[in-house]
Amino acid sequence: MHPRFDCAFATLPEKLQAALLPLLNDDHFPAMLNADEVQRVMDESGLDRQALSFALLPLAAACAQTPVSRFNVGAIASGESGNLYFGANMEFPGTTMQQTIHAEQSAVTHAWMRGETRLTDITVNYTPCGHCRQFMNELNSGTDLLIHLPQRQPGTLGHYLPDAFGPRDLQIATLLMDPCDHGFIPHGDALTQAAIDAASRSHAPYSDSPSGVALALQDGAILTGRYAENAAYNPSLPPLQAALNLLFLTGRGAGDISRAVLAEREAPLLTQWDATLSTLESLGCTYVERVAVA
Ligand SMILES: [Zn+2]
Repeated sequence: MHPRFDCAFATLPEKLQAALLPLLNDDHFPAMLNADEVQRVMDESGLDRQALSFALLPLAAACAQTPVSRFNVGAIASGESGNLYFGANMEFPGTTMQQTIHAEQSAVTHAWMRGETRLTDITVNYTPCGHCRQFMNELNSGTDLLIHLPQRQPGTLGHYLPDAFGPRDLQIATLLMDPCDHGFIPHGDALTQAAIDAASRSHAPYSDSPSGVALALQDGAILTGRYAENAAYNPSLPPLQAALNLLFLTGRGAGDISRAVLAEREAPLLTQWDATLSTLESLGCTYVERVAVA
């Protein structure tokens, strides 16, 4: 088991420990449970789906990267597919507060990057901040998304974000997690193509400045991240963050990145280049390229 889980795992009920052990002992545990795994763990632990989501929160929070706040937040996003996805907050020293990923953003983006197309529920160990409520209002599940907090009755996003402003107020038809393809033509090597594909599937209806990032890891794996723009602009999540989110959730670190590619238009209205470069440099990664998409 990856050492990041040691303390949290020890606090879990015995039956749940036994059910999760085969998953956590996999060196490549993807920080998610697919629908079959969820069903098996429910059967073996005696927990229902929501109780399991709560029980997994300490493991999700153990994925947090919090050198600034030392305040670990965990989130579990529940997909229509039946899958459960971990999320955790992440902070990057040497950058700005704006580069931070909140746990709900982490879980939502994680699910999106794994191919989930709609979320039904999100479970969090602390009440969602205003930034996250607004971020989640971009989802195609809209204000129906159910939010679960310890010792509270579940409430819809509409309950937590009354009188909401969102994409529908701006006549946006394609919402976050809806299938999207900007149709950028692939070219270059595998890493460049992965970045272009991520840009093609990014959500940027407000600036029309789609972007994607691909990270090559020392072990040969490629992780990608898509830009997730928001109707209120500031809660938008940059493509690099979506890729770093997968990197840290899966127990890897900045030292595993060997090369990075950002894909965006030749002269976009908004550019990710400076923020991508400076954040990667702060993580010790200097082999960063920009490729234009069309
Ligand atoms: Zn938040």
